[in-house]
Amino acid sequence: MESIKIELAKNPKVKPTDENSLDFGSVFSDHMFIMNYTKEKGWHSPRIVPYGPLSLDPAAMCLHYGQEVFEGMKAYRAENGSINLFRPDENFKRLNLSNDRLCIPEIDVDFCIEATKKLVEIDKEWVPSAPNTSLYLRPFIFCHEPNLGVKAGDEYLFVIIASPSGPYYKEGLNPVKIYVENQYVRTVKGGTGMAKTGGNYASSLKAGVEAHEQGYSQVLWLDGIENRYIEEVGAMNIFFRINDEIITPELSGSILGGITRKSVIALLQKDGYKVSERKISILEVEDAHKNGELKEVFGTGTAAVISPVGILKYNDNVMEINHQEIGELSQALYDRLTGIQWGKISGPEGWVVKVS
Ligand SMILES: *Cc1c(COP(=O)(O)O)cnc(C)c1O
Repeated sequence: MESIKIELAKNPKVKPTDENSLDFGSVFSDHMFIMNYTKEKGWHSPRIVPYGPLSLDPAAMCLHYGQEVFEGMKAYRAENGSINLFRPDENFKRLNLSNDRLCIPEIDVDFCIEATKKLVEIDKEWVPSAPNTSLYLRPFIFCHEPNLGVKAGDEYLFVIIASPSGPYYKEGLNPVKIYVENQYVRTVKGGTGMAKTGGNYASSLKAGVEAHEQGYSQVLWLDGIENRYIEEVGAMNIFFRINDEIITPELSGSILGGITRKSVIALLQKDGYKVSERKISILEVEDAHKNGELKEVFGTGTAAVISPVGILKYNDNVMEINHQEIGELSQALYDRLTGIQWGKISGPEGWVVKVS
């Protein structure tokens, strides 16, 4: 791959002054990374340029048929000032899984890590340092070839943008209310559920809106065939602690393989917990709740890290979990993972990659 060309912004933007009031995904740093793909040249022309609008042909295929994939990761400011990435190799390996499913050409994982590091280094002033803040990174690829024929395109753009983000929960960990979806489905086995692609989100919006109207913050999806096995929450994988077994749905093809999920499983196993990746039905959860065996439920994802669940509503059954308090395991996992990410404690070999 050619080396990355750099064009610095002539008029750097004013950075947010109050890092504690940063929200998610609305402010962007001074630069972005871009590279092009054409059939003849493959991936080429990698460059870091001032952040700004992209010009698209109205016939760009992504706008019509949704050929798009993305990733979500963070750059963390450690106390000593250095900047960490968390398992970036996993993000770009997963991007290639998504690419494969959406017929988008493969990218080079190591090159993408280098590009990410370079972008973060150039925009390092944008990595906030207030507690639990980070620079959210959004790599994405889409087909911009102008063509209304339905086919896999021949021209793509790979872009990375960066957004300083506040803590997911302003007052620390906060149990959420979750609506178990009994009507809509997100995806099915054989579909695109295992890929991180915009279409999965587009199809989930309506259920989200209806859950919000009833006072629930997120939707828990059931499988699209029998409507009884648990899949995942909007942008989080989900874990149940039933007595001393910690259960998360197996990666059956319709669930996204979260990196936080994978990390939580590794940490729990290292500590000797019984972790099962298996099918779990909503009826099993209801039974465990009725019998007092459902000790904790939590979601995992890059944005919130660990998200304790306080209420699960399925049909007319409103299940309160752990008195809507943060479970001990949820808290311990949150402290452990964020400790590793912000460089306060050491984690397994290779999890933390220093930018500078
Ligand atoms: C991104 C995402 C997750 C969480 O994955 P992480 O790698 O842990 O951030 C879970 N489910 C869906 C549908 C997602 O898009």
